[in-house]
Amino acid sequence: MNPFIELGIRHDIVNAITELGFEKPTPIQEQAVPVLLTGSNDFVGLAQTGTGKTAAFGLPLLELLDFSQRHPQALVLCPTRELCLQISKDIEKFAKNIPNVHVVAVYGGASISDQLRQIRRGVQIVVATPGRMLDIIGRNAIDFSNVRYVVLDEADEMLNMGFQEDINNILSTTPDEKKTWLFSATMPAEVRRIAKNYMTDPFELTVGTKNSGNANIEHHYYVIRARDKYAAFKRIVDSNPEIFGIVFCRTKVETQEIAESLIKDGYNADSLHGDLSQQQRDKVMKRYRERSLQLLIATDVAARGIDVNDVTHVINYSLPDEIENYTHRSGRTARAGKTGISLSLVNLKELGKIRQIEKVIGKSFVKMEVPRGEAVVESQLFAMIHKVQQVSVNDDHIDPYLPKILESFADLSKEEIIKRFASLEFNRFLEYYQNAPDLNVDANEGRNSFDRERKGKGERFGRDGYKSDYTRLFINLGSVDEFTRGDILGYICNTTHISGKSIGKIDLKGVYTFFEVENASVDKVFSGFQNAEFNGRSVRVENAGEGRGDSRGGEKRNRSFRNGSSDYNGGRRKRENGGGFRDFSGGKRREKSRW
Ligand code: ADP
Ligand code: MG
Repeated sequence: MNPFIELGIRHDIVNAITELGFEKPTPIQEQAVPVLLTGSNDFVGLAQTGTGKTAAFGLPLLELLDFSQRHPQALVLCPTRELCLQISKDIEKFAKNIPNVHVVAVYGGASISDQLRQIRRGVQIVVATPGRMLDIIGRNAIDFSNVRYVVLDEADEMLNMGFQEDINNILSTTPDEKKTWLFSATMPAEVRRIAKNYMTDPFELTVGTKNSGNANIEHHYYVIRARDKYAAFKRIVDSNPEIFGIVFCRTKVETQEIAESLIKDGYNADSLHGDLSQQQRDKVMKRYRERSLQLLIATDVAARGIDVNDVTHVINYSLPDEIENYTHRSGRTARAGKTGISLSLVNLKELGKIRQIEKVIGKSFVKMEVPRGEAVVESQLFAMIHKVQQVSVNDDHIDPYLPKILESFADLSKEEIIKRFASLEFNRFLEYYQNAPDLNVDANEGRNSFDRERKGKGERFGRDGYKSDYTRLFINLGSVDEFTRGDILGYICNTTHISGKSIGKIDLKGVYTFFEVENASVDKVFSGFQNAEFNGRSVRVENAGEGRGDSRGGEKRNRSFRNGSSDYNGGRRKRENGGGFRDFSGGKRREKSRW
């Protein structure tokens, strides 16, 4: 008998999920479904991402709700628009063979009138992000008085994003007798508090130990200098021509910068973070899913829970601040039984973090060497040869030209022709990587030599040799606001009452500026800019993240290496004009601006 039937799921649903390739329940499904099907418990389920939580609550909901009625009976809250869409689509797929199931996805950044119309027509399951949900509740446009089940999905992430109060407000509109099912990858104190406040004696389920790293993921790390990070990253990408990866950065600014540098250098890359408009984010995700993007550069929150198949590499361009996020990140690869690599670029100082992560995930990292120039050239060459082997020939179209082509090659031997074709690409790579330095840091090299090297160049470096005494900050004002470097220096000093001496390098850009501030004055800068406005617009100052070296210098890549396939201007120009860096909303809309 089908194991889902044994769990108590009806044939109509089992047939639909069998079509999706669900042969047997995952551990969380196996353990949660029987409990949830009773409909009589509050529930807390802890499991890593990718373990099948959506079906763990989705299938029981489909069994428990009364689809002859057309009012909301279940509310699923989740942190991001992407998840909201994914969950509602998943539930619709599970319900494919059940008549009259109506699911609405409610999320910000899309037309509210469409969502209101769907709600008016009658829905039983509402899947929502908190901000837009409150908006709709505020318009008295939905009646939750018959809600029987509330699901809080990715509860830890919702709390991280500051949705606590919104969740309180939403839940207060649902009946006291409803059951609450909470799912989370981690159980921080805040989640524990929710469980305590909203639930009565919940059934608690933890699947897998905390150390349950996915066995199909290999964990690699590369030790490099911070300033070589971007160059090293490109070499790794170049030596994996078939890479289909997600690159994690720590801040929005870093995400944006890396993506722009990559695009400029001719890669099929784009960024995903909360400062983009919803349309931009949708477009990026669509291109990534369709594989017209090879590299998705993302922040932790923006990529949380994203379920794209066949991701070959997760790249930790910067290690996450919280170790738990490492598990979420690496879980984007090796899905559905496939294998994948999670690799991290670290400096000597961060080695300790790698050891900590090893302890938490219960797996060892393998130290890798940044490929040398020749190795990169070789992999690119063979990738090209592979392409030649795989290319499909359209005889009808090429035949008319063939006599002329053959004629031009008549004097060349087969070997000579092959050599020349290969050289077409090879020469460029050769030139690019000729004399490329070794980017690996010898762990025994010690910091002193590094210190000396940097100090010799007259740069400011702190005691540990890695961090300067200055912090690099981002501000959303730049030359388009008619600032010169002198102006912006004056403006910062006036606004924050710090001395000009405390400010280091100023890097003025179009719509934003990077500036260095003595570590001791950073707090003053942040407090000075709190609530600051410029020409009626809120001024935003952010930590620009750890120095990643200068992506603009160093190894530059000839764009034609990735001939044609990159959506070059599309991604880029939009970002510059479209206000990627600007926040005109003054941070009001949390769903958009919190990550
Ligand atoms: P989570 O919410 O825990 O991160 P999802 O519910 O998004 O995980 O599921 C992750 C992936 O696993 C999805 O692609 C889903 O279709 C697939 N999946 C879920 N349950 C099963 C199953 N029983 N058999 C095969 N694949 C499954
Ligand atoms: Mg999920």
